[in-house]
Amino acid sequence: MVTENLSKVEEKIKEACRRAGRDRSEVTLIAVSKTKPEAMIEEAYGVGQRDFGENKVQEICRKKDLLPEDIRWHMIGHLQRNKVHQVVGKACLIHSVDSLRLAQTISHEAEKQDLDVPVLVEVNVAREESKFGVTTEETIALVEEMSKLPRVQIRGLMTIAPFVEDPEDNREIFRKLKQLSVDIAAKNINNVNMSVLSMGMTNDYEVAIEEGATMVRVGTGIFGERDYTK
Ligand SMILES: *Cc1c(COP(=O)(O)O)cnc(C)c1O
Repeated sequence: MVTENLSKVEEKIKEACRRAGRDRSEVTLIAVSKTKPEAMIEEAYGVGQRDFGENKVQEICRKKDLLPEDIRWHMIGHLQRNKVHQVVGKACLIHSVDSLRLAQTISHEAEKQDLDVPVLVEVNVAREESKFGVTTEETIALVEEMSKLPRVQIRGLMTIAPFVEDPEDNREIFRKLKQLSVDIAAKNINNVNMSVLSMGMTNDYEVAIEEGATMVRVGTGIFGERDYTK
C-alpha cells in the first residue's frame, strides 16, 4: 500500500510542479510517519524515500535507532524546551520554532554539542487558536532576534494550514506565507536564509506547491489514516 500511495503522491507532485512551471527538484516530499510502525517506513525507504517527519521527540529517537542511518528525520511537531537536548543532532531540520526562548534553548544545546542547527519559524498564518506558531506580524521581529543566535540557522518558514474540505480555501494562506518569506529575504538579515517553505499536507499539498512550497508534509496520503487510540 505504501509503495502505491507514494507513487500516486509523486505523480501529483510532478503535475503540480508542471502546472506551476517549477522543477520537480525544488520540492522535497516529507513522509509523515508519526504513529506508524517501522515496517511501513522501511517499505517507503525501500523505494527511495529518505525524508520522514515525526511530531514527537521520543518517537524520532526510537525510530532513528532502529532504522537506516541515512534517513533524514524532520521534527515537525510542537517542541518543548525540556526535550530540545534529545532532538538536537538527531533531526535534520526543526520545523516548529515559535518563540525566542525555544530558539535560545536550541542554540545553547547546539553550542554544547558543537553543532549548527537548521530551523524553520512556524507561522500561524490563519490565526487558529488551537495551533502553535507566531502571527505574521510577529515573524520578522522573531527572525531578527533569532538571527543573533550563532548556532541556530534560520532556513525558512513553516505553516500548518486549517483543515478544509476544499484545498482552494487554503491557497490564500500559502500565498501569505510565501509573501512573508519574500519580504524577510529582502531584508538580507545576516545568518538568515529563506530557501525553505514548509507547507501543504495530504489535503492541500498540490495547492501549496503551486504557491511555492519547497517541502510538503504528507502523512495520511502515504501511510493511511492514523489510529491514536493505541
Ligand atoms: C500530522 C502532520 C502532517 C501530516 O498530515 P496529513 O494530513 O496526514 O498529511 C503534516 N504536518 C504536521 C505538522 C503534522 O503534525
